[in-house]
Amino acid sequence: MLAVQTPNTQKIENPHLKEPEPEHCPGPESENAGKGDACTDCSNKEICESLPKGPDPDIPIINERLSTIKHKILVLSGKGGVGKSTFTSMLSWALAADDELEIGAMDLDICGPSLPRMLGAKGESVHQSNSGWTPVYVNDNLGMMSIAFMLPEDDSAIVWRGAKKNGLIKQFLKDVDWGHLDYLIIDTPPGTSDEHISVNNYLKESGIDGALIVTTPQEVALLDVRKEIDFCKKANIKILGLVENMSGFVCPNCKNQSEIFKPTTGGGKALSIELGIPFLGSVPLDPRIGKACDDGESFLDLYPDSPASTAILDVVDSLLDSI
Ligand code: SF4
Repeated sequence: MLAVQTPNTQKIENPHLKEPEPEHCPGPESENAGKGDACTDCSNKEICESLPKGPDPDIPIINERLSTIKHKILVLSGKGGVGKSTFTSMLSWALAADDELEIGAMDLDICGPSLPRMLGAKGESVHQSNSGWTPVYVNDNLGMMSIAFMLPEDDSAIVWRGAKKNGLIKQFLKDVDWGHLDYLIIDTPPGTSDEHISVNNYLKESGIDGALIVTTPQEVALLDVRKEIDFCKKANIKILGLVENMSGFVCPNCKNQSEIFKPTTGGGKALSIELGIPFLGSVPLDPRIGKACDDGESFLDLYPDSPASTAILDVVDSLLDSI
């Protein structure tokens, strides 16, 4: 087979290194620098072994930046496509329905940032002041900030390697000026990828309340949720509960209910019981949710009497009880 070699045009982010960090790099200044699996064939190995190690000096800066926020909730999913961002947007709208609360929604999903569209902030630009980046306000008490605002172009795929993505996520966490908030809802990358692990490491010490995990009912999604739950346990992140999304379909016309994704092994509820984590509820599929998210509108405001709205508000109540 003919091997095609492409020139390595990636920029070197760390001035100490000879070559850009490869994929799965543990970080040249981390405790595992020079010792990880990715280090074995890396030409920076010797340099990284000799670089100073120690606590990440940016973590206290991130902690300070987020110290004016009462509650921080991570929204996680085992895999993409289960409606994590959709749920994040609806949770944000639901909390912001209380005028007494100040809410923020943070989109850290670097490969698929979709909150600007879902919260009606697509095309907005963020402003920088002396105190940092100012969130975009989609209503009086709901501000949002997405990593999408810091990416080059709307339709361009993000093909950066781990270290560069992590640098951007860190900058984002350090520089956004949220001010005083009651709740910050954080949409994270799906799965347990490099940047997902970084996001959790950067945020872990900032006093997050815990993680809400979104799944769909079928076994293929639940398998990945098990990994996510295992990850949270290893990373000492409290699991606030599991939400089953797309749990049955309620026809908006006849109100008949059918199952699109079959819970062949009992779905999210059975998994929650098995693993001893709270089950926060099930949200049925409703095609109008997708339309509301595409239009950047609150489904809860548009269809307050729908079974999906009732289910979402029940989940939010259970979530607040668990905090
Ligand atoms: S030696 Fe390891 S830590 Fe250093 S750049 Fe290579 S992969 Fe990253």
